[in-house]
Amino acid sequence: MLALEFDETKCANCKAVSCLVKCQYMDLDKDEAKIEWQKVIKSEDSPVLDACTTCYACEEYCPFGNHPFYLIVERQEERGMFTAPRPITKQWINMCEPAGKFRLGKVKEQALSFCFIPALRSLARGRLFESALPSWILGAEFFCNVVYLHFAKTSVIKDRLPKITENIEKQGIKELICLHDECYGSFNSLAPAYGIKVPFKTTHYFEYLYNKLKEHKDAIKPLNVEVAYQRNCSARLVPETDHFVDDIFGLIGVDRVEREYDGENALCCGEIIRMVKGYKLADDVQKRNIDDIVNAGAEYCVFNCPFCYMALAEKMAKRGIKPIHIIDLCKLAIGEKPALEVG
Ligand code: SF4
Ligand code: SF4
Repeated sequence: MLALEFDETKCANCKAVSCLVKCQYMDLDKDEAKIEWQKVIKSEDSPVLDACTTCYACEEYCPFGNHPFYLIVERQEERGMFTAPRPITKQWINMCEPAGKFRLGKVKEQALSFCFIPALRSLARGRLFESALPSWILGAEFFCNVVYLHFAKTSVIKDRLPKITENIEKQGIKELICLHDECYGSFNSLAPAYGIKVPFKTTHYFEYLYNKLKEHKDAIKPLNVEVAYQRNCSARLVPETDHFVDDIFGLIGVDRVEREYDGENALCCGEIIRMVKGYKLADDVQKRNIDDIVNAGAEYCVFNCPFCYMALAEKMAKRGIKPIHIIDLCKLAIGEKPALEVG
């Protein structure tokens, strides 16, 4: 069985214990955090394992790349914990099993991955995608499996992710453009953390969009709008891709509003929290997040993840904020219609 590469000596020398001290769902000072974190490392009982909302943020908070969240999930699974109700966990495991449920375009060496999310295929239309679009993959056979971190089921990831990378390689793909942020996180954070080989190049769709916009720069009409950015959980696995959000905004004439819950302090969409911690905390997180966007004076809220969009779009629209996926925002800037609309 694949093992997590985790360096305990880094934790022994780590004074800030920022993985737990910065956690927005626990209230631990440095001393308490140090004690609780040592319990997690030694596989002893710790309230951290119950309190974790699976927001992924501590993966970003650790300055040493030591994968504290992956370790928490390992410990939860070792104890047989179910973070979500057992039937929901089983349903997710069965629903996404790679069992011949996939579709392909005319696959070439460079291909777009729509993961297991048909909405991404609808988004990838128009001039920004016309040269890449014939070559695409979609389905459970190519599903990144990161979601099982929320369910304390790393064993499913360890079993399926090597097969997924093999399935992609078998298509002759040399460069995979990941339209789902979580796929990019899977191949660039989770896979190396477990020593899983990724035998193809991966490109985040932010980078793809940025380069395509530069190719179409003559068609760009600056949008001149104030936007808030809804950062998703898997963005915490690959924070090195974040700069592309501002790079893209710069190209299309968009201002990112200053607000409390942005960057490292971002709040997730809340729907996973609803599943693992119940409606009260989820509603509170969503309300604080939307209040913050309204108070910051944003006209639009820009999404990276289609599931965050599904969770929050209608709630935001009711508060006068226009929800939009970042791909659709780029299309607007070159005079094309968005694919995802509320209603
Ligand atoms: S996981 Fe990272 S932040 Fe947490 S104690 Fe270890 S080194 Fe420090
Ligand atoms: S995943 Fe989120 S809730 Fe869980 S310990 Fe890390 S920061 Fe806290």
